[in-house]
Amino acid sequence: MANELLNSLLKEYEHKKMQAELDLEKRKELLYKKIPRLSEIESELNHFAIQTTKNILNNNSNSLNELYDKVNILKNEKAKILKENNITEDYLKPFYECKICNDTGYIQDNNYKTTMCSCLKQKLLDISFNKSNMSNLDKENFEHFNENIFSDKIDIEKYKSNISPRDNIRQIKDKCVEFVNNFDNPNEHNLLFVGNTGLR
Ligand SMILES: [Zn+2]
Repeated sequence: MANELLNSLLKEYEHKKMQAELDLEKRKELLYKKIPRLSEIESELNHFAIQTTKNILNNNSNSLNELYDKVNILKNEKAKILKENNITEDYLKPFYECKICNDTGYIQDNNYKTTMCSCLKQKLLDISFNKSNMSNLDKENFEHFNENIFSDKIDIEKYKSNISPRDNIRQIKDKCVEFVNNFDNPNEHNLLFVGNTGLR
């Protein structure tokens, strides 16, 4: 079930990413019609990128600096044209929904280890919360917890405890808060609630 959910989310991500890239192509096409020089610059930059790779592979470092200079001149010309036309550099990049993972759902840390991006984690959490009827978290949370509905009278005979129900619920609440705060800790144990059906 969890895998199915992840797979369908990843399909959504793939679709979003492709859409963002197609949109960019459309934006570029319109812009290049208006300012053909930008299209020429892009072709020249692509050509130089291939040339640079070839030179590196052939260990031909002599002409590399010359190539870098040419690339810089072109990049500056492109930046100038964009500025004159009030276009930001971002306009020529895909508008990804998540700027961290570029809508792939995964990121690489400094050790080249791939981990799930926070956006994908959040989506999985949201769906799980909705499925477990926990979507009212804005109202049903610790901040709205009202301990005053519990009696502050100690009644050992009635409650089978030498503390009042209010102190008891306070301790339970503290345990729950501690549990939530340590949720990521692998040594933290689970919580088990027992009682008659309908108890809250
Ligand atoms: Zn992300």
